Amino acid sequence: MQSAIELAEQIEAMGAFRAAAIEVDAIPFDTAFRDACRQNSCGFYNRCWTCPPDAGEIDELIARVRAYRYAVAFQTVSSLEDSYDMEGMHAAAAAHNRLTLKIQDLLSTLAPESMVLGAGACGICKTCTKPDGLPCRFPDRAILSLEACGIDVSALAKRCGLRYINGKNTVTYFGIALYEARGPSRDQDGVSDG
Ligand code: SF4
Repeated sequence: MQSAIELAEQIEAMGAFRAAAIEVDAIPFDTAFRDACRQNSCGFYNRCWTCPPDAGEIDELIARVRAYRYAVAFQTVSSLEDSYDMEGMHAAAAAHNRLTLKIQDLLSTLAPESMVLGAGACGICKTCTKPDGLPCRFPDRAILSLEACGIDVSALAKRCGLRYINGKNTVTYFGIALYEARGPSRDQDGVSDG
């Protein structure tokens, strides 16, 4: 498996606007995002298997992210006609989801224990099975969001040197690729994990 810097370059070559390696310990979390999800401004609360409350407990998801050794944040930037261009926003979200799945496919061959987080609701299926109470169609591929895992995306962008907003009449979406499980810690068995 290549370094996180090399993976970031590869992700840019796959179509990301920009990508940047970040130390997993530097990823900023805020459990208050779960309260924001409950406000349901996006309309997906309780309507997608990878969104709260079905995504899992936020502390467990934060621990799941922190269990990885390497991370690469990535972003897509799309043009809009104006700030009310909902069609453009949906098209941009769909394009971001397509790239997120391509990155997931790449990592699943390079690093089987990897996890890729995307933006907002899963988006793999045209409509999620959750509202109908049916099982997820692709449980091995369903994409959790950065926010569902408690990641503060604005602070993440700043720490990675990526711009959170990329100009008038554009929309920017983020994702993150995580790979390689951390080894046992020094505290647990007296052996360094690094
Ligand atoms: S894969 Fe389909 S059914 Fe499963 S969470 Fe995603 S959108 Fe919903």
